Amino acid sequence: MILLSDPRVSGIPVRDCGEPLAEIAADPAVVLSHQERDPAGAYGRARTGVLRRLRSASRSLPDGIRFLVVEGHRGSAEQARRFARHEDRLRRSGITDPVELRRRTSAFVSPVEVAPHCAGAALDLTLIDADGTELDMGGAVNAHRTGDERSCPLDAPGLPDAARDHRRLLARALRGAGFVNYPTEWWHWSYGDRYWALISAAGSAMYGPV
Ligand SMILES: [Zn+2]
Repeated sequence: MILLSDPRVSGIPVRDCGEPLAEIAADPAVVLSHQERDPAGAYGRARTGVLRRLRSASRSLPDGIRFLVVEGHRGSAEQARRFARHEDRLRRSGITDPVELRRRTSAFVSPVEVAPHCAGAALDLTLIDADGTELDMGGAVNAHRTGDERSCPLDAPGLPDAARDHRRLLARALRGAGFVNYPTEWWHWSYGDRYWALISAAGSAMYGPV
């Protein structure tokens, strides 16, 4: 498993194509959750090319099933704050070796310089049914914050059949549109950032921090 702290990720060159950020909620096929709302509204935006691919992924979902996007873009200052907060949480749990602390922190929160959300390239998302009820994914989005790391990996062992099927449905739709998953978080998918470039052997990223 390649983590975002891996030097191969920061070694990927960025050739930013300059695409603007756009509003996720402008697409009627996608629902935006407000649980990660920030004052500047960054959470509700992503690069236009990312949203084009999200639209394409939504068309491949079964009738009545839609994406619920929890977070898109994130400013660098907010990313740094979250990294420090999660690092602190792990330090208090007894991890003191600095290298191990950075590795464990970056399993769930990206270092700022390679953060897919800061590039407007990542979406945290899940699936909802026609009534707007979230499908059972076997664990909540951002469950690591409450210490439930077990359910977070996309291929977490021991999931109930329904949750595993729902994760497969999510993954099939997003992979089909070109997204890559961050394997420690079933809800995190990106396109065009450095992590995506490494996993998809694209050579360079098309989106850098914005
Ligand atoms: Zn994410």
